[in-house]
Amino acid sequence: MSDYRTVPTICPYCGTGCGMLLEVFGGELTGVLPWKGHPVSDGKLCIKGWTSHEFVGSPGRLASPIIRRGDAAGEVSTDEAIGLVAGELKRVVDEHGPDSVGFICSAKCTNEENYLVGKLARAVVGTNNIDHCARL
Ligand code: SF4
Repeated sequence: MSDYRTVPTICPYCGTGCGMLLEVFGGELTGVLPWKGHPVSDGKLCIKGWTSHEFVGSPGRLASPIIRRGDAAGEVSTDEAIGLVAGELKRVVDEHGPDSVGFICSAKCTNEENYLVGKLARAVVGTNNIDHCARL
């Protein structure tokens, strides 16, 4: 058990932000424990939190972006995917104005990430078209 350790973090599944301890054994993520004394969850997790480690090593997990060109889709680098999205976003905004696009954030993101999406929409692109799944 000398290679066993826990790493404190926040559950990735919703905006509640429950505290959890990742169990790491032999360099591999093996489980999750509730973080007793955490100010949000105080040692409790829902079933999603308890199983939140399972996707990390899943063989079905996408490991890189995929771009479809015509009938073919293939893996590309993150830089290429971001370049394509940024180029197309700029093209649409240039042709149709900033209110022709919108941004949708996620409760699975951190507050900081959602704040940055708001900044990107309002300060960079120039639109107030921004929404969030937690509002629904
Ligand atoms: S444990 Fe459940 S309630 Fe807590 S953050 Fe994760 S998904 Fe949300």
